[in-house]
Amino acid sequence: MTSAHDRAMVERLRATAEEAMRRAYAPYSGFRVGAALLGRDGGVFPGCNVENAGYSSTICAERTAVTSAVVRGVRELELLVLVTESDEPTPPCGVCRQVLVEFAPDLPVISFAGGREARWNLAELLPHPFTPASLGRV
Ligand SMILES: [Zn+2]
Repeated sequence: MTSAHDRAMVERLRATAEEAMRRAYAPYSGFRVGAALLGRDGGVFPGCNVENAGYSSTICAERTAVTSAVVRGVRELELLVLVTESDEPTPPCGVCRQVLVEFAPDLPVISFAGGREARWNLAELLPHPFTPASLGRV
C-alpha cells in the first residue's frame, strides 16, 4: 500500500469527489456522481457527471476526471475515488472502465455511498481489456 492510499489522501479525494458531486448536472437520471482522480504527480482531478437531453451525449464523472487530468498533462493515475447518493457504493460503468484502462490498468477504485465503502481494482472490474497492446501499439 503506497502513500496514495493513506487514509488522509483517501479522505481528501473523497471530499473533492463530494464537492464535484454537488456540481453534477443530472436532471434526467437524478443520479449524481462525483469523482476524484489522484495523478502520480500528486495532482487531484475532480469530475462529475454531465447529462444531456441527447442521452448518449452524457458523460460520466469518471471520464470528466480523466479528461481533466489528461488536459493538464497527467496520464499516470494512482487512485480513483467515487461518491454517489445511492444506497450502495457503485463501481464505474463499462464505458468508464474502458477509458480508465487506457491509462491505468491496475487502478485502485474506492467508492463511497450509503455510509459504506467498497474497493476494487480496475483489473478486477475489467478482465481481458481491450488496450493499446490490442492494437499492437505497445
Ligand atoms: Zn461511466
